[in-house]
Amino acid sequence: MTLSATLAAKSPARQRGKGGGLEFFPQPTTLLAWYDRHRRKLPWRAPPGMRAEPYRVWLSEIMLQQTTVKAVAPYYARFLTRWRDVRALAAAPLDEILKIWAGLGYYARARNLHACARAVVERHSGEFPASEAELRALPGIGDYTAAAIAAIAFDAPATPVDGNIERVIARLYAVAAPLPAAKPEIRRLARALTPPQRAGDFAQAMMDLGATLCSPKRPACALCPWNDGCAAYAAGNAEAYPLRTPKREGALRRGAAFVARRADGCLLVRTRPTKGLLGAMTEVPTTDWTQNFDAREALGGAPRFAPPKLKRLDWRRIAGVVRHTFTHFPLELVVYLADIPARTAAPKGTRWVALSGIESEALPSLMRKVVAHALPSDTIKSKPRKETP
Ligand code: SF4
Repeated sequence: MTLSATLAAKSPARQRGKGGGLEFFPQPTTLLAWYDRHRRKLPWRAPPGMRAEPYRVWLSEIMLQQTTVKAVAPYYARFLTRWRDVRALAAAPLDEILKIWAGLGYYARARNLHACARAVVERHSGEFPASEAELRALPGIGDYTAAAIAAIAFDAPATPVDGNIERVIARLYAVAAPLPAAKPEIRRLARALTPPQRAGDFAQAMMDLGATLCSPKRPACALCPWNDGCAAYAAGNAEAYPLRTPKREGALRRGAAFVARRADGCLLVRTRPTKGLLGAMTEVPTTDWTQNFDAREALGGAPRFAPPKLKRLDWRRIAGVVRHTFTHFPLELVVYLADIPARTAAPKGTRWVALSGIESEALPSLMRKVVAHALPSDTIKSKPRKETP
């Protein structure tokens, strides 16, 4: 870095405030100088001065939506080992992708990942486009992801704004409007701050600042390179931003799940419809999940086996309930277990899978919890997490 750049990085810029006095405002060069020293080492990040492959940026950004870096890292490594590039991913069966994705939640992302890989191959000959508009036209790529890929992989002056960056901007400028109404204003302020040079590094610097120092609780403002240009810090109430309109929690839904274990060590499962909540994932049969579920009627929704018929009393209610929280509603399931004679055929729309091979099924976290609740001695890992479609 040159001497003038170093000085610029250390000197906050000043401008006339409303009262005529001098006010500080954040300088991109200051943040970039901080990033050069403190950038996080991430598996998908290119070394300093290099540009990351669009495939890796895209894959990591899709996985990181609503999910932590720690949770994503092993999945990212697995995907990259299995599918080295977008062509390989496009050629893979969706079922296989869902199996490798299982446990990461938000399963619509895995389906879109596959659709997007195929679209990149079909529409762009296997090369990701560089423009935000063309990226946005691909399945599963919204404003944020398009801007992140354009900036990080192509160094285009694009401005990705996710929850972390919203928080940084809302604090820097003490944005008075609450989220979500403040989103357009925050995006405008973030765009105005994006420099024409090193836009990719700037985007990643903003991500790092939001993920490390400018945390939701107790931000480390004393260490922040922008603390002398931050309005919320100056006012002593950084934690209060971004302001939010209180949101209503979704109403509790309830239902029953049926764990049928056959004498030869098989479990009865079915595949959920492709579209909608947990689309195309594997589940044990359940009733509908409703707000007015009546536990006394639960066995009416149990799977019906052809001879030898199962009597209602053969279903044993397991004490307790399985609780799970989707982003838009909490769920409680009561669980029933039945032992089924060997060679019993699976009812229509269901199939038997070996319990020993259950890990290779695209079983979402909720269903892992259900099976672990009914069969605690069988080896299935339950990974509680929030999930959406
Ligand atoms: S000074 Fe504090 S609140 Fe302001 S941007 Fe830095 S870490 Fe965030």
